[in-house]
Amino acid sequence: MSDLPILVLNAGSSSLKYQLVVPETAEVQAKGIIERIGEPGSAVADHAAAMQAMTKDLAAAGVDLDVTGLCAVGHRVVHGGPDLSDPTIIDDDVLNEIKDLIPLAPLHNPGAISGIEAARAEFDVPHVAIFDTAFFNTLPAAAATYAIPRDLAQSYRIRRYGFHGTSHQYVSRAAAELVGRDLAELNQIVLHLGNGCSASAIRGGLAIDTSMGLTPLQGLVMGTRSGDVDPGLHTFLHNELGMTIAEIDTLLNKQSGLKGMAGVNDFRALEEQRSTGDGAAQLAFEVYVHRLKHYIGAYLALLGQLDVLSFTAGVGENSPSLRAAVADGLDVLGFVVDPELNDVRSNFARVISPDGAPITIAVVPTNEELAIARETAALLQSNSDS
Ligand code: ADP
Repeated sequence: MSDLPILVLNAGSSSLKYQLVVPETAEVQAKGIIERIGEPGSAVADHAAAMQAMTKDLAAAGVDLDVTGLCAVGHRVVHGGPDLSDPTIIDDDVLNEIKDLIPLAPLHNPGAISGIEAARAEFDVPHVAIFDTAFFNTLPAAAATYAIPRDLAQSYRIRRYGFHGTSHQYVSRAAAELVGRDLAELNQIVLHLGNGCSASAIRGGLAIDTSMGLTPLQGLVMGTRSGDVDPGLHTFLHNELGMTIAEIDTLLNKQSGLKGMAGVNDFRALEEQRSTGDGAAQLAFEVYVHRLKHYIGAYLALLGQLDVLSFTAGVGENSPSLRAAVADGLDVLGFVVDPELNDVRSNFARVISPDGAPITIAVVPTNEELAIARETAALLQSNSDS
């Protein structure tokens, strides 16, 4: 495999996260973020300008891609729709297919498309799309289908897609390595708890359910997203407050979740507020935990038996109090957290349940950039082999 780095890009509508990774060794040669793209008063007018700003930052960090060389660019694309799931070399047709999916991901795919267009103009190497929905392509129909009229669902591709797939896949594989068992024989639950939050149930390495749905709004309580609400809430808000659909969308995506309940979307700030006896922060924490237990119980029922529960992403990796609260009272189901192991701070995957516990509970740091770099490299390798 080439030891040249892969540039991993995660382009949103107003930000561009980048990381230069050598897939084989996991070495990160540079990383950063360009923010406020296209915002009033910003020096970065659009994604093309963001690419220039990134190249400048890379140069300042001593990286000149013309000299070191670049193997490929791996793009994180949130929505692959029903058809795009494998890592895919981006040509004009694929780009058009991703554009065609904008109605399914109006908040996310346009940023990725701008990022892809700007990067293709800048870097004359293969560009590969890695879809956040891909890992959930295996959901059984019973898990992916919403109970709405069948024709409508089919015509408009309305189904549960799931997101954060790259992370759920990476973590479930890393968890199997951690416990030294074959992925194929493990039943797992992965809790990805960052700004966005999602849970998945995984049997033998294949996802059988996940908490996010048609969009990343469904499921767990998140930093600013509500997660599950009664769908009747939309009608209520419209009828009683005269809110438009756009306003309701903004309310549920940007002003709800922890922020809506306690005024802060950052989990550290929430924990600080909670420690001062703030009732709203305490309730928000309890709702967050309640929802997690709800999904863990549901996934236990779907899997029938569970081997490993993994916590990952910013909150999952760094908040012992959250992990302890999730396991609290679930010992009858086999979930036990060892307080000392739970308090260990480490960047490595680790077990936090006691030896011999019926279910292994683990903290497994996610690394979506490395996973994207490796999938990109693997695709190029298999193309050059064939
Ligand atoms: P993103 O979804 O943007 O990738 P991250 O995975 O980085 O986000 O997670 C961000 C969240 O992790 C924030 O809510 C942040 O407060 C939380 N977090 C980070 N460090 C800690 C910590 N030490 N304790 C509790 N929460 C933390």
